Parts: sequence; C-alpha cells; structure tokens
Amino acid sequence: MARFLRPGSLAEACEIRAAQPEAVPLAGGTDLMVQLNSRRERPAALLDLGRVAELTQWSRDGDGFRIGAGVPFTRIIDEIGEQLPALTAAARTVGSAQIRNRGTLGGNLGTGSPAGDGLPPLVATGGEVELVSVRGSRTVSVEEFCTGPKTTLLAPDELVAAVRVPAARGPQRFAKVGTRNAMVIAIAAVATALDVGNRAVRVAFGAAGPRPARARAAEEFAVAALDWDGGVIGPEVANRFGALVAEACTPIDDVRASAAYRRRAVAVLAARSLSWTWNEYRRGTCA
Ligand SMILES: Cc1cc2nc3c(=O)[nH]c(=O)nc-3n(C[C@H](O)[C@H](O)[C@H](O)COP(=O)(O)OP(=O)(O)OC[C@H]3O[C@@H](n4cnc5c(N)ncnc54)[C@H](O)[C@@H]3O)c2cc1C
Repeated sequence: MARFLRPGSLAEACEIRAAQPEAVPLAGGTDLMVQLNSRRERPAALLDLGRVAELTQWSRDGDGFRIGAGVPFTRIIDEIGEQLPALTAAARTVGSAQIRNRGTLGGNLGTGSPAGDGLPPLVATGGEVELVSVRGSRTVSVEEFCTGPKTTLLAPDELVAAVRVPAARGPQRFAKVGTRNAMVIAIAAVATALDVGNRAVRVAFGAAGPRPARARAAEEFAVAALDWDGGVIGPEVANRFGALVAEACTPIDDVRASAAYRRRAVAVLAARSLSWTWNEYRRGTCA
C-alpha cells in the first residue's frame, strides 16, 4: 500500500519531494487515479497537494495572471475566464463538470500529454511554467516544458507551482476535434491568438505531434497576408494559413485517428480559428 503524504505548505511539499522523489504528486487525481486504478502505476508513495493553499490561488501578474498549479478548471472559467479566452475555451472542453471541478492546469502540465487541452492555448499565448524545489525556483516557457509524449522538463525534486499567462492582447480561439462532442480526448486541437498592438499572430496545435507546438511559418505568413487596417480575410489566406499549420504537425496513426485525418483536422481548425479571430478583430476596429 502506497504511503500517503500530506504537506500543509509548499515549502513542506518541496522538502518531501527532495527527500522522497519516489512520492508521486497528486492534485485533482483525474489522470493519476486512472493510472492507479488500472494498475499502470504503483507508486511507493503519494504526495497529496490538496492542503497546499499556495497552489490554489491565482493573482494578477503584471499584464497577465499567475494561476496556481492547483486551481481547477472550473475556477479558471468562473473567476478569470473572460480575460483568458483561449485558455477558458479549452478549459470548457475538458471532460465533464466533475472532471473540471477536480482537474487542474498543474495536472494537465504534469501529465504532459500532447492531447492536453490546456496546453495549446498556453503555448499560443506565451504561457510560462513556474517550477519550485528546495533548490529554488525557475521559469520556463510551456513550449519548452513539454519535451515529448508525456515527458516534461520537471526534475524529480520539482513541483509545478504556477502558470503565468499574459492577458489577451486581442481575440483568441481554441477549437478541438474528437470522436464525439463532449468528454473526449482531442484528435486535433488548435489555439490562435492575435496580438493587435504588435500586429502579431500566434498559433499552436495539440494532439498532432509529440508535444504541443507553435507553427511559426504560418504565423509569419498571416502577419504578412493580413491587412491590419481592417481588411477582410479571404478564404485563400485562411486556407493557406491552415495548410501551413498542418505542415508543422507530425501526427501519428493511433486508435483514435489516422495521421492524415489529424493533419486535415488541424488545417480546417486553424483556417477557421484565424477567420474567427480576424473577424472579431475587424468588428472591433470597424464598429
Ligand atoms: C473522464 C475524463 C475525461 C477527461 N477529459 C479530458 C479532456 O477533455 N481534456 C484534457 O486535457 N484532459 C482530460 N482528462 C485528463 C485530466 O482531467 C487532465 O489532464 C487534468 O488537467 C489533470 O489534472 P489533475 O489535477 O486531476 O492531475 P492529477 O491526476 O492529480 O496529476 C496528473 C499528473 O500531474 C502530476 N502533477 C499534478 N500536480 C502537480 C504539481 N503541482 N507539480 C508536479 N506534478 C504535478 C501528477 O504527479 C501526475 O503525474 C480527462 C480525464 C478523465 C478521467
């Protein structure tokens, strides 16, 4: 039977993590308990983060937000949703109400699945992960943090303390395709964000490569092709953008979808996301 360790503070949690790296962190348990119940994981100890108050808080952070790793998706939607549209749209698609009440952004990052819905919006908007240990803290971009399918930069003695997300600088969208409309792991996902002040476009995809990633050639194409003084977006621009995002993907065939289907889904989602964000921007500019 696994030992159950319940630190009361982040400092205590870090000390336990340093002394007992075999203890697996437990947040909402919506990924980890599935592993335990199916006996795919038999950890010697569980490090329950449920009493660590520091992880369950969010705050303003410069021009953005610092969201504690233990803040569940429901609270992100209810409390800061309007200011982080892509992340909130993604959070709304996670599992069911019960899963969103328990599941956290820290757990989404801890699992590091390429299909984690929280990850493309964080990559597209320049989100950062704050990692802590008894050695101190460090901050890495979410794009760097995810290194491959379910592998991350998290060191054995580290915990995810928080995620830093810049406030929206323009319209944002998240779109996902699955085998049904709800309670579904993404077959493909795309997050698109306009940075109106800097006239920049950022796009990231999920579930179509070993890790969530940006499509930089598509971003550069869109910036050059769009008329930022309020011009309409034609289908040729949206479709070319979608094709370039799909070119950046490296999907695989698996039980949920073929690589070809995933690539096609990414192209369609990206083309639509760019049109949606652009039309929202134009409505604001031309109103
Ligand atoms: C029915 C069902 C439907 C789901 N649907 C979706 C979906 O639509 N989209 C989606 O993205 N996910 C989905 N999930 C997966 C899951 O809900 C999410 O990945 C969620 O974000 C996990 O968060 P958690 O707090 O429950 O993590 P946990 O299960 O507690 O932990 C997950 C991993 O992260 C590690 N971890 C947790 N917190 C920390 C921390 N602070 N520091 C370091 N490591 C940490 C744990 O050790 C573990 O390895 C679903 C799961 C279920 C059971």
